[in-house]
Parts: sequence; C-alpha cells; structure tokens
Amino acid sequence: MTKTATRGIWKYERQIPEIMERNRITLGEGQTPLIKSTRIGPEVGLTNLYFKLESLNPTGSYKDRISALGVSLAKERGLTACIGTTSGNAGGSIAAYAARAGLNYHVYVQENIVASKLEPMIVHRASIVKVKGFGFNPEVGNRVFAKVLKNAQSRNLELLITAYAYAPEAMEAVKTIAYELTEEGAEDADVVFMPAGGGGLLTGIYRGYRDLLEDGAIRCLPKLVACQSTGCANIAKAWQLGLDKPVDGASTAMISGIQVPNPPDGVQALQALQHSGGFAEALPDADTWHWQEQLAVKEGIFCEPAGAIALAGAIQAAKEGRIGRNANVVCIVSGAGYKDVDRMGAMVKQLPDIPMIDADEL
Ligand SMILES: *Cc1c(COP(=O)(O)O)cnc(C)c1O
Repeated sequence: MTKTATRGIWKYERQIPEIMERNRITLGEGQTPLIKSTRIGPEVGLTNLYFKLESLNPTGSYKDRISALGVSLAKERGLTACIGTTSGNAGGSIAAYAARAGLNYHVYVQENIVASKLEPMIVHRASIVKVKGFGFNPEVGNRVFAKVLKNAQSRNLELLITAYAYAPEAMEAVKTIAYELTEEGAEDADVVFMPAGGGGLLTGIYRGYRDLLEDGAIRCLPKLVACQSTGCANIAKAWQLGLDKPVDGASTAMISGIQVPNPPDGVQALQALQHSGGFAEALPDADTWHWQEQLAVKEGIFCEPAGAIALAGAIQAAKEGRIGRNANVVCIVSGAGYKDVDRMGAMVKQLPDIPMIDADEL
C-alpha cells in the first residue's frame, strides 16, 4: 500500500465511490492549501478573505480530483480506454491520469483551445479531435456530447466528461473540496465564491457541504456563489430571472474553462444556489483579467483567468453590499497561471521591456 493512495481525495474513501487500493490511480491530487489574503482583502475591505489553491493540483486544476477517481473507476471496471470532451483542463488532467494507468483517452476539444492546454494532452499521447464551433455554439455542443455518449456505450469506454450529467460517480471527488475546507479551519465559511462553466464544480461543492451538514460537522451551509463571464452567463441570467434552468445562448466569453453555452449541470447548480442561500455574479472579462493580475502582483498567486473570477465576483458582491466586511469569504482558485500562456503574454506585453546588458556594464 502506498501512502498516496490514502491521502488527498482518498482520505475520504467512505464518501466517494469505492475503489480497491491497487486500482487507485493517483498523482498526489487534493489536500490543497487554504491561505488568507494578505493585501487584496484589507484593501477592498474584506477582513477575512481566503483562497483555496486548487491551482496547486498535479496538472494545475481541480479537475485532477475528478480524473483520479474517474480513471480509477475505469481501472476498477477493467476498461481499456476513456472518452470525453474538454475545453482544456479536464483533457490535460485525464490524459495524465490515463497515461499513468496505461489507458487510452479519446477526446473532442474546442476549436479555440489555447495551445498551453492542448499541448500537454498531445505529450501524454491522448487521441484528440478538434470540433469547429464547439465552445461557442450550443447546437454543436449537443451534437458532440451525443456522439461521445454513443461511442462510450457502443465501444464500452469510460465516459469522462467532468459534469454530473455524464460522470456522476467521478464527480463525487469534487465533494472533497468542501471536506478539506471544513477541516482546514473554514468550518465557519460564510460565503464560497467559485467559477461556474458547466456547473459541476458548484454542484460537487454543494453536495460535499450537504454531507457535512448531515454529519453535524457544520451548523449551516455557507452561501455558494456562481461566478460567470457576462459573455456566457447562462446560469447567472437564470438566477437573476428566477428561473430553474439555465438560459440558452451562445458564448462570447474570452475565458477558457467557463465557455459553456449549454451547462450540463446548470439545473443542479441553480438548486445549489437556492438551497445554500447563495447567488450568482456575472463579471466582464476585463474585471477577471484585472484581478488575475492583482492576485499575481499583490498575493503572489499566479492563476489562469478562470481561477481569478471567484475573487472578481467576491469584490463585486462586496461593492453591491451582498457580503459583510467581516464575513469569512473563500474564493476557489480553480486553475494555475501557466495553463493560459496567451494571457500571460498579454500581461507581459503591456509592461516595459526588461533591459539587457553586457556583463561589463554591471
Ligand atoms: C472546468 C473549470 C472550471 C469550470 O468548472 P465547471 O464544473 O464546468 O463549472 C473553472 N475553472 C477551471 C480552471 C476549470 O478547469
């Protein structure tokens, strides 16, 4: 028995689908730090602002929790391959875990996938197909999902799309974020802000908190807040209109990872907002980029734009008076900065060139 098979998400083996220890495929996912804001919180008037660094997972996003469990489930069932779709992070993550397990991974990707998310999948030897319009056009999205479902069934492949609607067992690994937050001292978290694309992250965290409430580990659910781009605010619009399912509409969002015009877990995500007394925030991409940069400049946290939208949402909510100054606020930093090198280049380009000198000018 290796130690890694009992730490991270595996520490909560009783709350997630059962996997024999020899079938647990792990790269050290989970058990990510919760750290307090040193500068941004005091500056914006949030005295208890915390960041959960999911960006520190093995492939740089919280998707590693899901991939670890999903690929382990495939192993447990004796399957030889996984299949799915991705906007980038799920693919890079599943490709890594599949490589470790010796399984093939067939994946359909969005047309506009950033190279820094695509290339790791190629390196891990995933079988990749790009689909035109996928990620913008909801109709194309539906057709891709239908094709993947059909292949998964007819060829007996493990279906690994990181949404409850498609891979409910693997998604249970997301609950461990709520367990960890509670153990890390955030048992009195008042509000948890997080990005919402397909809505699976929100749904998983909600389910984790519901378990904790049932077990008496917490007294009440924290308010859960879905943060979306105004360019793809299907869940946030529905929330504002009081609807129980996401509003349809194409995506013009520029933020990779949350461009999901047909959120598969949208209905459950809306229920999670309602049951937890939470709400939704739609943020202009420029705000998210601003706070991505500020996290790097003022907190030393380098995350991808989707990882910063929770903070952008918290600050907008504070301005709107939806959260109090002393509330315990957690922002889920969902993915690492190096995931999106295009955005890193854009940040660098607006800054002065670095000087280059000869050694004798020193
Ligand atoms: C997948 C992902 C999201 C969105 O999660 P959903 O479950 O689709 O809502 C947010 N941030 C990052 C970094 C992601 O990889």
